[in-house]
Amino acid sequence: DLTTQDKERIINPIERPTVTQDLSENVILTTVDDLYNWARLSSLWPLLFGTACCFIEFAALIGSRFDFDRFGLIPRSSPRQADLIITAGTITMKMAPQLVRLYEQMPEPKYVIAMGACTITGGMFSVDSPTAVRGVDKLIPVDVYLPGCPPRPEAIIDAIIKLRKKIANDSMQERSLIRQTHRFYSTTHN
Ligand code: SF4
Repeated sequence: DLTTQDKERIINPIERPTVTQDLSENVILTTVDDLYNWARLSSLWPLLFGTACCFIEFAALIGSRFDFDRFGLIPRSSPRQADLIITAGTITMKMAPQLVRLYEQMPEPKYVIAMGACTITGGMFSVDSPTAVRGVDKLIPVDVYLPGCPPRPEAIIDAIIKLRKKIANDSMQERSLIRQTHRFYSTTHN
């Protein structure tokens, strides 16, 4: 014999089952963006990239005193294994094509922290140096600007936390639009 509940199900087959107390305590509902962002921000792999004195501070950060592995950051020597580049040091005109090439070799999604006055504006070389690039954002898109000369390891950690917050609110759709705009910019201005 059919129970009253069975009869109701036959009458209204699309009725949603009620979530029992047990189930609601063991199931987490989320979005694809949130899950994807959580995985990415928990395992950023920075490229070992340094062109001048700022890199000394970045190297100190990798040491045990600051323990930046606790953020899931593991430095990589190959751009193909990295999704973060911290431009530590002055970027010269001669270095610029190599930096763009390294950035292009990194898989998507990828992020950039511009570290130090020299990479952000050209720093002390911005007045009359014919060889310094006046702003790394003229070459690659920057996610976080980290001013200082040089910024201390604690400031780099702060920039990484800011980047993690940015990634937490990232949308795959917006990111792909930014990527397309950058590709269009690179192909029309290089
Ligand atoms: Fe060196 Fe200062 Fe330039 Fe960093 S910002 S590369 S520490 S001169």
